[in-house]
Amino acid sequence: MTDAHVHLYPPEADADPAAWAAARREPHWARLCTRRRKDGRPVQTLPTLGALLQEMDSAGVERAWLLGWYWERPETCAEQNRLYAECIRAHPDRLSAFATIHPSAGITATLDEIRRAHGEGLRGLGELSPHSQAYPVDDPVFQAALDLAEELNLPVNLHVTDPDSARYPGWVATPPDDFLKLARSHSRVRFILAHWGGLLPLRNPAALALPNVWYDTAASPLLYDEGIWRRFLDQVPADRVVFGSDYPLNVYPRIDSLPGMARFVAEVHRAGLTADELAAVVRDNAKKILPPTARVTGR
Ligand SMILES: [Zn+2]
Repeated sequence: MTDAHVHLYPPEADADPAAWAAARREPHWARLCTRRRKDGRPVQTLPTLGALLQEMDSAGVERAWLLGWYWERPETCAEQNRLYAECIRAHPDRLSAFATIHPSAGITATLDEIRRAHGEGLRGLGELSPHSQAYPVDDPVFQAALDLAEELNLPVNLHVTDPDSARYPGWVATPPDDFLKLARSHSRVRFILAHWGGLLPLRNPAALALPNVWYDTAASPLLYDEGIWRRFLDQVPADRVVFGSDYPLNVYPRIDSLPGMARFVAEVHRAGLTADELAAVVRDNAKKILPPTARVTGR
């Protein structure tokens, strides 16, 4: 079982997440990730690497993909990329990692950062969000980053919101056409649209025809009822869907006071998928996107 959508933050952030974010001028992350619900409980925790591995063990998750956050500053992107390089060096058998960037670094520094992260064993780009990071999808630096993703064979995970979903603090609109445009302009880049792609392929059949687009299930229980699995897979082939949780976001805030992976893993197993669909979604598709043969071996 692979969880293709997990975030991890530097241990220093946990002591005082708001101060950590303020020092780095990352108000968007602070708004989304250090928020408390009305009952006072945090929307998410900031577990250590050790706690993440324990959570994976108890949920039966063999491998997790660490996705970068869509930071507002290139410096924060680099900081998280270095953290992820350490994580995959320490646990190549359990973790893969994606690098994050912000085009405001300029073209040279952005491409250098991607090459550096790739040299450290990071295997994708994302989770990126042009709309949250405030650059247009045709931004020339972002376009150059996608060209390099193609050259280095890096899949690209993009944050997508559903235009009809409930609004939460920090919610941003992500116009569906932007993703169609990106997938078409970079037809050899494998895009993973997060959060079921905001249900893009259910709304727009043109998305179904794109051979280079996958969808992850991150945060699904926060956004949709359990019927979503069948509704989505009745329209979209199972080989296009990868299980991702969005841990350490608490995706069952009505039931759990702390985030966990196991309840979401149990949900996919009882969601009415055929055995073949289940194997594709929780294991095989992820292995095809990042084949284990090319995995980081560590030193
Ligand atoms: Zn996201």
